[in-house]
Amino acid sequence: MRALARAIDGLELPAVEKISESQEQDPFQVLIATLLSARTQDATTLAASTRLFRVARTPRAMAKLTVRRIQGLIYPVSFYRHKARHVKATCGILVERFRGRVPTTMEELLVLPGVGRKTANLVLIVAFKSQRNICVDTHVHRISNRLGWVRTRTPDETELSLYQTTAERWWPFINLYLVTWGQRVCRPVYPRCLECVLSPLCPRLGVTQVGRAPNPGDR
Ligand code: SF4
Repeated sequence: MRALARAIDGLELPAVEKISESQEQDPFQVLIATLLSARTQDATTLAASTRLFRVARTPRAMAKLTVRRIQGLIYPVSFYRHKARHVKATCGILVERFRGRVPTTMEELLVLPGVGRKTANLVLIVAFKSQRNICVDTHVHRISNRLGWVRTRTPDETELSLYQTTAERWWPFINLYLVTWGQRVCRPVYPRCLECVLSPLCPRLGVTQVGRAPNPGDR
């Protein structure tokens, strides 16, 4: 993790972290951006979130938008029809049940439509600065298994295993470091092991073919 911390220094932040920084960690915007980010490129998430927040910045304002309007604003994020319904329903629940605020516990976050453990953990870490959560997405799941930190089949299994196999002080950083690394170096196919700072430590479990070295401009 120390090697990764040095390696990602100066690299572009993932979309949710970027939105969080620009919006002073507004939990509502972190929640909505995370909902939009599933299976979507960072640049698309960022652009869609920006368009949506320009029109409605609070749960109350966003709950008043029609699903069709939300669809138009967030397109072309993947599953935009589905996500628009979740955004509207989530905003309604935030207004009616949580007085327009994003709840601060895993249990409460999981009642929101479209919010699973990944989204809830990211909101708790990024918006509420939790030190006790690990957010596992596809990058964290893949890289943790390649590194041999865990041997798991699903992201939820990976999350639970990582609590056992990693030092607590790193929990809030695992997502940021591994997502940033997974987007550039430890990619799903053809990971760039030849250029990876973790190469001397990594057993590369499950890796069958490695990719070319990155262009100087990629870093
Ligand atoms: S050495 Fe290869 S498999 Fe291991 S973390 Fe680096 S890029 Fe991923």
